[in-house]
Amino acid sequence: MGDLRIVFLGTGGGRFATITQKRRTAGVRFLKDELNLHLDPGPGALVYSWMLGLDPRKINGIIVSHAHPDHYNDAEVLIEAMARGALKRQGILAAARSVLKGGETAEVAISKYHQSLPKQVVETVAGTEFEIKDVKIKGFEARHSDVDAVGFRFETEVGAIGYTSDTEFFEEIEGFYRGVRMLILCVLRPSGEPWQGHMTTDDAIEIVKATEPEFVVLTHFGMKMIFRGPTREARMMERETGAKVVPATDGMELWIGEEIAVGKAIDKKGKKIKLNKFLKT
Ligand SMILES: [Zn+2]
Ligand SMILES: [Zn+2]
Repeated sequence: MGDLRIVFLGTGGGRFATITQKRRTAGVRFLKDELNLHLDPGPGALVYSWMLGLDPRKINGIIVSHAHPDHYNDAEVLIEAMARGALKRQGILAAARSVLKGGETAEVAISKYHQSLPKQVVETVAGTEFEIKDVKIKGFEARHSDVDAVGFRFETEVGAIGYTSDTEFFEEIEGFYRGVRMLILCVLRPSGEPWQGHMTTDDAIEIVKATEPEFVVLTHFGMKMIFRGPTREARMMERETGAKVVPATDGMELWIGEEIAVGKAIDKKGKKIKLNKFLKT
């Protein structure tokens, strides 16, 4: 059984972090055995894939949680890469209804042509279940300004992983992600700075207390969160919840097997580096 590698190609979110690229907005890659899955390919997904040595032509699954550009922007070009320049219908695209068909506040985010390139397209609403390689995935409700937004729960060989996408806190969310080994939270705002449709550190604390994951990763930081300091907010969450909380950084890589290792995928000179810090589990 190989480790699951999770690479954070980007950790920024929201309009201003995206426009300024204070943090990259390239999404997250899951790699294990045959699995090569890109989650929420925002602006930069293509470029940072190459910069981190992750050939986008090897992708076999693309997931888009909703129709905002920090989540879908590079989806079409990654689909072209996945389909070998449109020469071969292959791979799976799973995306929220608004992304595929347009919604109340959004136009179609992936063209009909690009939707014809993958071997399978899954329209994901709350409750939709599908598989990419050996990973079972289920969509869950998210409450966001794109009403079709969905979060995901991934059942992998090394445990369950939750990804909330952009959402505000609501009670049922606890049931969706209870018992996951790793919970990835899109914490756009710091403590005390609520904004409708998004999560603050205060909301994240409630979710972690209710779901009790083995460890938590914070990502998708907006400007206010970046200026406050995700590390500081993560430490505060650890004090409040007793959980291990990792603030993601651009290029951060997690290796999940029996143990969990965290490190940078690549150093400043562009060289692959070894992971050296182990989380106690
Ligand atoms: Zn977002
Ligand atoms: Zn959004």
